[in-house]
Amino acid sequence: MSRIEAEARDVLLRRRHSLSDHDAPAHGDPSARWSDYEAALEPVSEVVRRELAEIDAALIRIEEGRYGTCQSCGGPMGLQRLRALPEARYCMACSGNGAVAFD
Ligand SMILES: [Zn+2]
Repeated sequence: MSRIEAEARDVLLRRRHSLSDHDAPAHGDPSARWSDYEAALEPVSEVVRRELAEIDAALIRIEEGRYGTCQSCGGPMGLQRLRALPEARYCMACSGNGAVAFD
């Protein structure tokens, strides 16, 4: 495993852990009414679910040795982009031109 892969894996695992915690119902907050809580939770949990899926996909790419390669053009992602967005699937050019969206 290269250094950037090890670094990204570390970041992704920590992020996944904190997202999983966030996704779990919070206990012991007497000021939160259930109705507020439910209304607030739904959209957040969808975003979190998607991000967890992206994180898992990135971790699989690291395991399989495909990490750091753009899934659209096959070119290198660049260290700067991987550091900024470790779960990115596409290079800056591919994600920036609107031709590729997250599926
Ligand atoms: Zn690309």
